[in-house]
Amino acid sequence: MLTVDEARERILGYVRRMPALGTEEIALEEALGRVTATAVVAQEPSPPFANSAMDGYALRSADTLGAHAVAPARLRLVGEVPAGAVYSGVMGAGEAVRILTGAPVPDGADAVLQQELVTVAEGVVTIAQPVAIGNNVRTAGSDVRPGMTLAPKGTELGPAEIALLASLGVHPLRVTRRPRVAILATGDELAPPGQPLRPGQIHESNTAYLIAAVRRAGAIPEPLGIARDRADEIRAKITQARTADFVLTSGGVSVGDYDLVKQLLAEQGSMDFWRVRMRPGKPLAFGMLGETPLLGLPGNPVSAAVTFELFGRPALRTLLGCAQVERPQIEVVLDESIGEIARSDRRHFVRARLSSRGGMLLAHTTGAQESHLISSLQGATALLVIAEGEGVMRAGDHVQALLLNDALPWGSEVQ
Ligand code: AMP
Ligand code: MG
Repeated sequence: MLTVDEARERILGYVRRMPALGTEEIALEEALGRVTATAVVAQEPSPPFANSAMDGYALRSADTLGAHAVAPARLRLVGEVPAGAVYSGVMGAGEAVRILTGAPVPDGADAVLQQELVTVAEGVVTIAQPVAIGNNVRTAGSDVRPGMTLAPKGTELGPAEIALLASLGVHPLRVTRRPRVAILATGDELAPPGQPLRPGQIHESNTAYLIAAVRRAGAIPEPLGIARDRADEIRAKITQARTADFVLTSGGVSVGDYDLVKQLLAEQGSMDFWRVRMRPGKPLAFGMLGETPLLGLPGNPVSAAVTFELFGRPALRTLLGCAQVERPQIEVVLDESIGEIARSDRRHFVRARLSSRGGMLLAHTTGAQESHLISSLQGATALLVIAEGEGVMRAGDHVQALLLNDALPWGSEVQ
């Protein structure tokens, strides 16, 4: 049996050695969730010119030296500059220009006083206080200087990163190509969605799960439907899967009589069948269909979901060129005892919800944890990692948790 880490290292080691998938140029509006193919570096300053932070009056600081209520400075109003316009000429000594937020500060001016603090009458701006150089002026490059890295290579883009690139005029953007992932369910008992169940059948759910999870990982799902437990059907689907960048199958990799998938995958050449020291999970297949890596997940829906999370998602993120392949792992406090986990040589991944109380992150399990209970996945925001050899875990114990949910306040800086 392999440990979880050994299995993951073998899979990722393989994927890291694969030729890169290539890149493409996309519009910034399409960039959510995409991964930068190169470092994006600012070519210009932002803001591009010094501009006003307020609606008010541009002036020369020196003209207001010593100004106060009984001896105010009186400046001649010589013009106006709204946002989007430029004041023509140079503002001279003793002059002021009406300026609006975002408008370029006129040449010759070095400060802006907000309109609430001045009085204006008959072309004269009266100022009863000294105004410091740079007051209310947003200098050129105060947000971003040319040469600054806006997004390192491998950044997964969210709204904030996209806004930053947009503000520097980056368009279009070069991102990595998304891998196409073939998804195959296997089993005589499986009925496709929308089809009524015959006796002995269940609704097929692994494809639905994997389509969603693959998409969320940043890849493109290509469902191949269900192969019944018949050699010709499985062989035909496997042949179809070869054109994808990555293949996921579920079911048929344990030791049952009907586990033909295993047999037919073995027939394809370099395929390994592992038993991994984990729960849920355990049987796992990994190998090559020609040029295409194939990950064979267990059939039980919870096992399929957890093994995809631990092995499939990092493999796809590696193919995508993501700098951050792994989920953030944090320490949380159990809010209940986990009695049913006996001391064992397997690593347990317990589905849990996290909440916070008194500055602590608390974990509550989602209930019974058997691997056919899809309801145990529902609402889970973390997988609690119960190490090999742990005994019964009690309320108050500290435990590691893999975060499943982007809604928690951990961004791409977390390694
Ligand atoms: P297997 O790994 O093929 O022996 O399947 C293990 C269990 O998972 C059995 O109870 C199957 O009915 C179930 N199972 C396998 N594939 C799926 C699927 N795609 N959707 C729902 N349940 C499945
Ligand atoms: Mg089966």
